[in-house]
Amino acid sequence: MPEPVGAYSPEAQKLFSAQELDLKVDELERKRQDQAPRVQLAQLHKQYVANKQKLAEVRSAIDASQAQSDTMSSDLEALDAQIAREQKKLQASKAHREVEALSRELDGLAAQKNEREERAMQVMENRQGLRTMAAALEKKVAELASAVQQGSAAVKDRNERIVAKQTELAEQSAALLETLDPGLVQAYRALKGASLGAVAVAHYQQRRCGACSVMLPQSLIPAIEAAEALYRCPSCHRILIPAPDEDDAGDGGDAAAEGE
Ligand SMILES: [Zn+2]
Repeated sequence: MPEPVGAYSPEAQKLFSAQELDLKVDELERKRQDQAPRVQLAQLHKQYVANKQKLAEVRSAIDASQAQSDTMSSDLEALDAQIAREQKKLQASKAHREVEALSRELDGLAAQKNEREERAMQVMENRQGLRTMAAALEKKVAELASAVQQGSAAVKDRNERIVAKQTELAEQSAALLETLDPGLVQAYRALKGASLGAVAVAHYQQRRCGACSVMLPQSLIPAIEAAEALYRCPSCHRILIPAPDEDDAGDGGDAAAEGE
């Protein structure tokens, strides 16, 4: 005959109710440890950093383009001055050869000016495109910054709510266990252990262990059914508690514990 784990009393049902609360605490702990919200937040942050980096690059390209335009316009000014000088020379020229040579030079300078002006225009247009890109990136960076902030507040809030609910449930469980025999509670705690979702107490129903479904040995049945003491399942070692009478309509305790 195995050693009983405690004396039987109707109060022992509280052990099962406490376990239901503790299992909810475990379930919440799993939820709390779920990395998905943090992973999502990290991805959002990564996007934010990447877009901010891209924005910095575009801004520096705008600066470089502005510097290029500045150089180009001083080059153009120098070219204009050269053209003006050559034109003055042309006006003062009498010799046919000199006039021809100066005219050719001025044609060449005009072509050069035309080409440089076109390039300057391209650089300016390109810069306009970069500015449009920068504006879009600024908007995106601001949106992502706010999403990261909201996301991180949501993760924090979620954790706080989970911990608050866990504390509440653990207190309810502790209050139930407090009323029970300390030896029985100790056996329960040892079986429940630290692993999430571990089951320490099972109902026995129709001569079977409610946790592992093993058929309980004949030698144990009379003692269990006489409700003399609480025994462990010989197979899974869980504490066996009589299942509440199925005649008990409603089973309010379970229903209340199920609601989240
Ligand atoms: Zn069992």
